[in-house]
Amino acid sequence: MNKIIKMITFDLDDTLWDNMPTITKAEIDTRKWIENQVGFVDWGTFEDFLDIRETLIKDDASIAWDISKLRKEIFRIKLDHIQPESLRDEIVEGAFELFISKRHEVTFYEGVEDAIQKLSEKYILGVLTNGNADIYKFDIGRCFNFSISSLEAKDSKPNRAHFDEAIKQVDGIKFNNILHIGDHQINDILAAFNLGIETLWFNNKDMEWDQDFTKPNEFKEWKKLPEIISNKYE
Ligand SMILES: [Mg+2]
Repeated sequence: MNKIIKMITFDLDDTLWDNMPTITKAEIDTRKWIENQVGFVDWGTFEDFLDIRETLIKDDASIAWDISKLRKEIFRIKLDHIQPESLRDEIVEGAFELFISKRHEVTFYEGVEDAIQKLSEKYILGVLTNGNADIYKFDIGRCFNFSISSLEAKDSKPNRAHFDEAIKQVDGIKFNNILHIGDHQINDILAAFNLGIETLWFNNKDMEWDQDFTKPNEFKEWKKLPEIISNKYE
């Protein structure tokens, strides 16, 4: 028998939009903005970034899930030579503000807005994201009952905190009343599957299924999503 689905939760990055172009542009624009004020900055390689991140997490465990704090700390380290400290802090805050605004300059995949609107008429909708995009900054935010980022969950998917928070949002919802939709095989699909949550894999890049449990239903076109869901669960 099919499960009774009452709530649908969505990942954001790479599920509602292609994240790489957005983040890359946000990063480049923010670095330019900083360099316009302070001159050349040695930003280092991605490996350097990972090393700094690891060191920061040793001092402050919350950096692992508070990616906004992580970003500010990285700016602070890269601008270590800027004095006085109050000026450096001002630039860090300004840079973060710019970054987060650019980070929301996304292009939704075709059909996202219509599909979300339709689904919101029948289901409780929620966001479960590891990122720091805020669904309420977009018009379709009105369709969502709740949004949980790693900041609220104090943890990151594939750990279960996001899902535990989701069932606290609405009385009477259990894991087997949820359908979780996301692009990431581990952070979204495996994480939800392990809790007995129904899953639907957004696979618009034709990725191979690489997990050792049965591949869930997948889709690549948002305009087909309401029909896929109604055929399977209604
Ligand atoms: Mg994702």
